[in-house]
Amino acid sequence: MRLNNFLSSGFKFGEEEHLLQFQFKMLNSIFVVVAFFSVLFGLLSDLGINDIGPVHSKVDYVYSFLTLVLIFLLRHSKKNYQLVIHSLLIISLFTFTSALIFVPQDEFRIIWFYLLIFVAYMLNGKRTGILYTAAAIGIILTSNYFLELHLSQTAINSGILGLIIGSFLSNVYTNKISEYENSLKQQNSTLSVLASTDYLTGITNKRMFNEIFKRYFQTAQKDGLRLTLLLLDLDHFKKINDTYGHQTGDKLLILFVQTIEKILAKSDIFARIGGEEFAILLSQMDNEEAYRLAEKIRQSVEDITIDHQGRSISLTTSIGISHDQNTDTSCDDMFSRADMALYKAKNEGRNKTCQ
Ligand code: GH3
Ligand code: MG
Ligand code: MG
Repeated sequence: MRLNNFLSSGFKFGEEEHLLQFQFKMLNSIFVVVAFFSVLFGLLSDLGINDIGPVHSKVDYVYSFLTLVLIFLLRHSKKNYQLVIHSLLIISLFTFTSALIFVPQDEFRIIWFYLLIFVAYMLNGKRTGILYTAAAIGIILTSNYFLELHLSQTAINSGILGLIIGSFLSNVYTNKISEYENSLKQQNSTLSVLASTDYLTGITNKRMFNEIFKRYFQTAQKDGLRLTLLLLDLDHFKKINDTYGHQTGDKLLILFVQTIEKILAKSDIFARIGGEEFAILLSQMDNEEAYRLAEKIRQSVEDITIDHQGRSISLTTSIGISHDQNTDTSCDDMFSRADMALYKAKNEGRNKTCQ
């Protein structure tokens, strides 16, 4: 858990941020590896075990220190990611250039630039990869032109060719990964819309409504805000279905929703919580205002008519209202009161609003 927290720089990542979280973890792992091995290289050289020369061993100590600084910088804000990744790549470029110039006894030192390019692609995508490939090649060619690197021209040529091929392959791979990432994001957002909406009417479904209701209820209780619940149940809907068919019933359900949507504000929550049962959540409305709105809805539903084989079919709804109370322990209490009011409306002859 602690390791996870360290690798994520202490941040929480949302569903949409899987790739970013992976990049944070990779970056922090790289910092640890770089910090450790740079010090190790410096120490081994100072102890005379693996000679990398006095200049480069000092550069390695500085490199290690700077990566530790970057670990802390990254923990400050997720937004520091770009700054930190480029800082890492630039100090790495300097360090590997130092190795190129000051450690002539190491014939394989161009290898470090391969790692740099791979990290650039993996942690920041195609553009950064191409940018640092160009920078690495530029540095190698310039150093070779102006300084004595003790590398044969063939070694330089192979090194550069290897960098270009490595860069090309990483480019193809990174492109594919970001394509997958984008299509996954798209699929996820389609799925979450499907999981939270009603297939027939397109409004919020019961599962989502329950979540929203709980959240609204908690906020209302905490902040002393008013919350109103309207439960609507279509009257004698079974008879409509039995007489005119299920398809006509479906058409009426869609019209019912469209009619009410026109009346409600965008911020009101309107959900289908059963076959022909609906719920509306209203914030910051007093009892009278809520009653008036419910009546307006009820009367507009009365006006819905559709034509079925030359006959005009109409629709009515009963509505139960409840408001949040200080004594409520959960949103279920509010729901029960609205349900009781709805029951009363049905008992009193339907096409009524009760609270
Ligand atoms: P009441 O006034 O007491 O509410 O009577 P009702 O007939 O509306 O009540 P009941 O709960 O007995 O019937 C609800 C009906 O709603 C039963 C079912 O045929 C219908 N229904 C439920 N879901 C759908 C749906 O998705 N489409 C259609 N067309 N009808 C549905
Ligand atoms: Mg019903
Ligand atoms: Mg009904």
